[in-house]
Amino acid sequence: MYFSKLFIPTLKESPADADVISHKLMVRAGMIRQLASGIYSILPLGLRVLRKAEQIIREEMNQIGGQEVFLPSIQPAELWMESKRWDFYGKELLRIKDRHGREFCYGPTHEEVITDIVRKEVKSYRQLPILLYQIQTKFRDEVRPRFGVMRGREFMMKDAYSFHVDEKDTQHTYHQMAKAYTNIFERCGLKFKQVQADSGTIGGSFSHEFMVLAESGEDEIGFCKTCGYASNLELAESKPPLPTSADAAASATVPQDMKEVATPGKKSVAEVAGFLKLTARQIVKTILLENENGLVAGLVRGDHEINPIKMKNLLGCEWLHPANEETFSKHRELHRGYIGPIGLDFPIYADREVSVLHDFVIGANKPSAHFTGVQVQRDLKIEKFGDIKAVRAKDPCPRCEDGEYEVKRGIEVGHIFILGNKYSSAMNAVFLDQHGEENAMIMGCYGIGVGRTVAAAIEQSNDERGIIWPRNLAPFQVIVIPVNYSNGDLQNVCDTIYRRLHEAGIETLLDDRPNRLGVKLNDADLIGIPLQIIVGEKNLSAGKVEIKIRATHESSLHPYPQVIEDIPNILRNNSFPATP
Ligand code: ATP
Ligand code: MG
Repeated sequence: MYFSKLFIPTLKESPADADVISHKLMVRAGMIRQLASGIYSILPLGLRVLRKAEQIIREEMNQIGGQEVFLPSIQPAELWMESKRWDFYGKELLRIKDRHGREFCYGPTHEEVITDIVRKEVKSYRQLPILLYQIQTKFRDEVRPRFGVMRGREFMMKDAYSFHVDEKDTQHTYHQMAKAYTNIFERCGLKFKQVQADSGTIGGSFSHEFMVLAESGEDEIGFCKTCGYASNLELAESKPPLPTSADAAASATVPQDMKEVATPGKKSVAEVAGFLKLTARQIVKTILLENENGLVAGLVRGDHEINPIKMKNLLGCEWLHPANEETFSKHRELHRGYIGPIGLDFPIYADREVSVLHDFVIGANKPSAHFTGVQVQRDLKIEKFGDIKAVRAKDPCPRCEDGEYEVKRGIEVGHIFILGNKYSSAMNAVFLDQHGEENAMIMGCYGIGVGRTVAAAIEQSNDERGIIWPRNLAPFQVIVIPVNYSNGDLQNVCDTIYRRLHEAGIETLLDDRPNRLGVKLNDADLIGIPLQIIVGEKNLSAGKVEIKIRATHESSLHPYPQVIEDIPNILRNNSFPATP
């Protein structure tokens, strides 16, 4: 392609609202433009890169037997009522009415639509399993659209759905899918981790996320270098508590009596600990939360925090939020800073670590007072103990002997789920098994954010001059830059290089614009083409052209025209990431 004929509106300045580097660079490189909050137009250069990612995804989906479909983006409300998600999905679901007043939504995901198709067409175990996928735009009315296409409202997703006769067969496809995802993100040149994940609003029983490691990531992941265990931090398991020598000593001595002590103005763990000359781990915090059944309390050691997602999973409730101002104003008997588990008329759940404590401190449920010398068995009524504390870096690994947690930030680019019969039961997607009996199908679903994957690649691979495309995502492999294209000799050489590389199947861009060399070099660096061939009069008179490697800034002179034949090799040896 000739640069002058392409619509690549590059910019010197970053947009004012861009917080992350990928957003800045995608706008500056002329890949995208914002139309409205979280809604982007994809321009030619952006589309070339998205198509590369899509193609990689397609190939890997087809490889494991996926069949591509294209489902409507507008979906009737009735289907969402059947699955009970019409109410549950909340404000993220963009609801619309047609001219007859019928309700629809713009699809944020397609479990309902695909289940509707399959239940109508598939009747027998002989037609299963089936794996369908599409690459299409979704709409989610995100509370905080940001980071450009990384968290847009309208965005491109690959979503796949599988239907099976049983859980075992679903797991088989799930593992194939995990492998396909690994291939996809490796081919995209990304550094990523597959981590254990929560199922969120999609529901289901078992799920993993694929996280690209990047400081700008919205998620935190915890992983163990020793054994490889990795989890989204919101779900990361902790090692069951082992009583310490101090705990053992305490349990060997006579337990203290529970005593009320005055703690005027001492509300936080640090204040109470300081006042009573204790450590934070001798204090137990009582955290109030609310779910669909009302108030609940969670107990954790003073030096720990509650993880609301783990607590929600322990309770098995629909939703769980920390108690807010409104709750406290309704419940005058609850005194902030002095809340404790004794005398509450709602269920109390405790972290496992609390079960091994002795002689600890809790709030006394009245202003300016705490209880000391508390014993779990003797003094507290706990509904259930479980793993509800938030994991931190350096905590011991739950899966191996000596490992410990390391914590890093990540961008979730893919998410896979085993859904079980959640949708098939609700929507009556059944089949007849070998014995002629009717069963609900078992389902899996699998998503990849295409735009988010591309943005994540930029987050991982850029420098002060612009994007450094991984080999397989680069919109072009080579850019030919004449120092001055109006010079007939240079023009000839550049056209020849361009034509021959093009014939050799190498995607090449020729910067034929009349701009100054500096502008052209800046743009080439900004849009991140892996290899630049710079053709100038001086070098050419010595029979040479300059080759610059975008990733490393290395530049070297090569004999012309021999260089044309060497390009595939140079590309192979110098593209990013290195050829394995
Ligand atoms: P998140 O927690 O980031 O909101 P999610 O769990 O809601 O993601 P899924 O429903 O699993 O996401 O969607 C599948 C994939 O679609 C995600 O892994 C992500 O790559 C992508 N995705 C989700 N929401 C957005 C968005 N608002 N903008 C761009 N990509 C998105
Ligand atoms: Mg989401």
